[in-house]
Amino acid sequence: PLPVLAVVGRPNVGKSTLVNRIIGRREAVVEDVPGVTRDRVSYDANWAGRAFTLVDTGGWDPDARGLAERIAAQAEIAVGLADAVLFVVDATVGITDADEAVVKILRKSGKPVVLAANKVDDHRTETEALGLWNLGLGEPHPISALHGRGSGDMLDAVLAAL
Ligand code: GDP
Ligand code: MG
Repeated sequence: PLPVLAVVGRPNVGKSTLVNRIIGRREAVVEDVPGVTRDRVSYDANWAGRAFTLVDTGGWDPDARGLAERIAAQAEIAVGLADAVLFVVDATVGITDADEAVVKILRKSGKPVVLAANKVDDHRTETEALGLWNLGLGEPHPISALHGRGSGDMLDAVLAAL
């Protein structure tokens, strides 16, 4: 079986956009309305000649009460099944309570984590990504899933973690 990379993070940070970028197709559903991805969807992926399974997560009702807890519960399942985790944060928003809830799960799991600071569409946003060092998960990798910026370096870090 291939190594499994789970893509986790709160709704609307760009997980599905990033998954599409990595698999080079438009299969993961991207919506301006958060929460449209089904609970977990797997894809075959490949970077620098190494194959792995990529798991997109989502499927929360963004208006539900206790959203942070639901996100954390989903993340816990996905992380439990994964060899490594790609944790996606929206660098233009910064760290929210829902992000913090996921971080707790990640710490508890002991699994290797690569931190993606998404929506860094241009160099001006790059300084905002630096604030994500405060998560204590190591280096934030500034990327733009939408435009493809920075995803090569981030994927090199993913391969090192898998
Ligand atoms: P998910 O809920 O985490 O799977 O997020 P989606 O992939 O569905 O994206 C949510 C919204 O963020 C969509 O409108 C995307 O087009 C937008 N988005 C995703 N990545 C980027 C990015 O790198 N830059 C910008 N500006 N928008 C992005
Ligand atoms: Mg999604």
